[in-house]
Amino acid sequence: MRRLPWISIGMLAIMLGGLFLIPDLSPKQLLVRLVSAKPVSTIINKLQQFSPLPNNAECLVKLKQQDVAFRLQAPFSEPKGCNVEHAVRLSRIGDTSLDNAPLLTCRMALQLSKFERSTLQPNAQRILGARVKRLKHIGTYNCRSMRQYQGLLSQHAFANAIDISGFVLDDGRVVDVEKDWSGAGSKSRFLKAISSSACRSFRVSVTPDGDANHFNHIHWDVGPYWSCQ
Ligand SMILES: [Zn+2]
Repeated sequence: MRRLPWISIGMLAIMLGGLFLIPDLSPKQLLVRLVSAKPVSTIINKLQQFSPLPNNAECLVKLKQQDVAFRLQAPFSEPKGCNVEHAVRLSRIGDTSLDNAPLLTCRMALQLSKFERSTLQPNAQRILGARVKRLKHIGTYNCRSMRQYQGLLSQHAFANAIDISGFVLDDGRVVDVEKDWSGAGSKSRFLKAISSSACRSFRVSVTPDGDANHFNHIHWDVGPYWSCQ
């Protein structure tokens, strides 16, 4: 019996050793293989549902106290491990309507509402001389893996993320992330100003400067990680 732990440790060492013996793999590629393989990915996917920001009945009470419009979404899960609890279909935050009332966790809806009031509108008025009236996005809930780590669920798999593609102002102008991110114009300055402040409200912010996948949108989420690009 006393030999069992040593056998387990030995097997684990052989597995890890085997990984490092695979030729032509960089340390990052080895890490990708390790965390994407079961059971490591299953454990990480469970842990990914935790966040320092609470998502519970109390959050829904706080959300109702904001100037927002939403419908409650019943909890559901999918066999791949995607799981949505205490979620809403959010159609308006402050003066800003959202296209297609996207599905979001309460914690993400609450942070978006606070962001609209504290950061989005003040920057729109200061830099563009207008108010934002519509938020354009290309997705919130999506039962999928992260692009870099197959098998590890994205925060989109928990409705904990939104991909912002642009904004419509109350004077009719449109700010488009793909077209307006680069350059020296006021629309670019506005996008960069709200992005540099975004991590006061969200846990992760990835802009077109972050990587090639984000050429046409800004990703914000409220998952367990903290990263601002
Ligand atoms: Zn995203």
